[in-house]
Amino acid sequence: MTTLDSLLTNCRLADGRLVDIGIAGGHIATVGEGAAPVLPNSVPMLDIGGDLVLPGLVDGHMHLDKTLTGLPWMDHAAGPTRLSRIETDKTVFPYLPLSTEERAGNLIRECVARGTTHLRTHVDIDLESRLAKLDGVLAARERYRDRATVQIVAFPQSGVMRCPGVLELLDAAVRNGADLVGGIDPLEIDRDPKGQLDGIFAVAARHGVGLDIHLHEPGEMGLFNVHEICARTKALGLAGKVTISHGFCLGDVAERKAAIAAEAMAVAGVALVTHGAGGLTLPPIEMLRAAGVLVFAGNDDIRDTWSPYGTGDLLERAAIIGWKADFRRDDQVEIAFDLISAAGAHALAIADHGIAIGGAANLFTVAASCVAEAVAAHPTRKLVLFEGAIVARDGGFLSEPIPIANAVSGETYMFRPPTKPST
Ligand SMILES: [Zn+2]
Repeated sequence: MTTLDSLLTNCRLADGRLVDIGIAGGHIATVGEGAAPVLPNSVPMLDIGGDLVLPGLVDGHMHLDKTLTGLPWMDHAAGPTRLSRIETDKTVFPYLPLSTEERAGNLIRECVARGTTHLRTHVDIDLESRLAKLDGVLAARERYRDRATVQIVAFPQSGVMRCPGVLELLDAAVRNGADLVGGIDPLEIDRDPKGQLDGIFAVAARHGVGLDIHLHEPGEMGLFNVHEICARTKALGLAGKVTISHGFCLGDVAERKAAIAAEAMAVAGVALVTHGAGGLTLPPIEMLRAAGVLVFAGNDDIRDTWSPYGTGDLLERAAIIGWKADFRRDDQVEIAFDLISAAGAHALAIADHGIAIGGAANLFTVAASCVAEAVAAHPTRKLVLFEGAIVARDGGFLSEPIPIANAVSGETYMFRPPTKPST
């Protein structure tokens, strides 16, 4: 029998089963009914009390470097256009009293407290800040490496071709630790789609990394670039490593044209990440999934200079996306959940995601009877585990991860000391 480090009892799984989950070496070693009575009494047990246990959530699109989390509330004076907001940022960030590392760390803590264990963040790379924001986010990632994983996209927020020198900075960013190369509106921002896309794909191909490209462009303009991205993904053999962020155009062109684009994305292996943006169209999630496109989700801006909204709560984000998509049936709400769970893990190539034997013991518990209720009500996360240790409890981030074996009665209300005598 596998030697367990700890056991979670009375766990409600997404499929409704009530099971015990054994943990060994930070991984899930057993999942089954009635394991507790046969275990030696030295195995620490936490009674989850029938609460829902779900895998750690995956935030597929966010901006750790932009957040104001941890600062006193500031007036949100973001300009009316994307370009004006880009310029506003440059007058705000150099004067903030908290560093990029501190603000990014604050937001990681908020996300972990809400059950998120994997993040993909974009980090601005521009001629003014160069690699400084990347350095800050890299430091925050290192500091919290035992609470969550963080993928970093080197993001040319101000453009590529209109800012000569940015391509070289993107290259340097990947050499320094960024995991993917970003891009932004090749026509609207750069007015040179071939130049930007050829440039960023060349950087990615040189380093063997993927790409995640912000595409806000509407209608035919955006659709043109969807096809350009698919063509380059196929030509360079990057299937499964390229994501289009937002892709608002897919929600505002004729259904026939969106279907053709979906087919191209599925064939090329280009994924889509959405956050259910306010005031903008939502890509047709169900149609895209039916066509074979990998669709996942993230929070995008979380209390930053671009938006006052957001807490980092992905269950709430799934509810927003589901509301915006008019998902009313439970099976549709489960789709919204999948975007921040299994689909997100697939997109981020997290192989050991899920409540299954061999999976990483990254999970959270919540007082809900099923996934649809967890999304709709998004209650406080009672317990969050990362690699088998408790990293957040009752919605609060813990300053140090606590091994389950060290959780004592009285400190952890769910703790149930072993009562079965060893035989
Ligand atoms: Zn973004």
